[in-house]
Amino acid sequence: MRVAVFSTKAYDRRFLEAANRGFGHRLDYFEARLDASTAALAESYPAVCTFVNDRVDAAVLEILARGGTRLVALRCAGYNNVDLEAAERLGVAVVRVPAYSPEAVAEFTIGLILALDRNIPRAWNRVRENNFALDGLIGRNLSGRKVGVVGTGRIGALVARSLRSGFGCEVLASDLVEDPELVAIGVRYAAVDDLLREVDLVTLHCPLTPQTRHLIGRRRLAAARPGVTIINTSRGALIDTAALIEGLKSRQVGGVALDVYEQEADLFFEDLSNEIIQDDVFQRLLTFPNVLITGHQAFLTEEALSAIAEATLASIAEAEAGASLTRQVTARQVRGQA
Ligand code: NAD
Repeated sequence: MRVAVFSTKAYDRRFLEAANRGFGHRLDYFEARLDASTAALAESYPAVCTFVNDRVDAAVLEILARGGTRLVALRCAGYNNVDLEAAERLGVAVVRVPAYSPEAVAEFTIGLILALDRNIPRAWNRVRENNFALDGLIGRNLSGRKVGVVGTGRIGALVARSLRSGFGCEVLASDLVEDPELVAIGVRYAAVDDLLREVDLVTLHCPLTPQTRHLIGRRRLAAARPGVTIINTSRGALIDTAALIEGLKSRQVGGVALDVYEQEADLFFEDLSNEIIQDDVFQRLLTFPNVLITGHQAFLTEEALSAIAEATLASIAEAEAGASLTRQVTARQVRGQA
């Protein structure tokens, strides 16, 4: 099948090309992000392949559908950037990669927790300048800490298991459904409000939906345990960034590690080292000594990129063969979950 691949980086191309040896699709790569101004590039392509910050809203889907596109294949798990109702109305199927490597994201989350808690990036900056002083680098043991995991699906369950069984934390969790295997190892489920009142570190692993947008906002931050540490490797808009900054300034929030950011679409995945960043909120976040930010790279492992490429191309092959789409996501499914 002919596929217009948007937001392509060199690494995407490498893994897609390797996987495509087994499929033989015609993949045409565009560096541009998909939005209303670039959607015309996909004219006459039956399939379009997109990533997390491509904008697949109703306006874009209308352009794609008019141009003959019948399939949008997301090279990611989250589908918050797609208007699924509009896709259904326009006859455009949407597939995603639901579980390419939850380990990749879970391991990175643990890495962020340790790096933040033990001041590893600050220490490395000092050592590079021959400053071996330890003042200001005192961390805290994870062992015995009370931590919270919001969303115990594929990624969250791995994080909860690692924190509980690996590090010996007391783990509270919050989800719409309880995972009995986590309960069996001593994880205790609670409502998000109760969890936040108790834990001194919370890590977010639920999807971004209308119900979870700004899950961590002004009210919950005010009621949280003072000095709470917040980790987010899920989606930026789970956190109200303005409220987070207020919390950091008042020290109600004691530390933050983010791999995702509400307005990341204008920043992440690009080399902007010679640019003037216009996002003052992001720039303010960078000024805090207790904030650690990475540019949406939790998924970025060899294993995950291979699995994403394989699953994406397999979905496109299913569509080409007129078979049922095993990784399809529909508005109806999502309505059913709400
Ligand atoms: P999953 O669907 O397996 O798990 C999500 C869990 O969240 C489910 O158990 C669901 O019941 C729960 N949930 C939904 N609404 C909730 C709510 N209001 N409160 C509490 N829990 C709720 O998804 P996953 O594979 O574990 O991925 C989780 C998220 O991680 C994805 O939605 C995606 O946004 C993000 N992600 C980020 C990266 C990255 O590189 N940073 C990579 C992959 C996925």
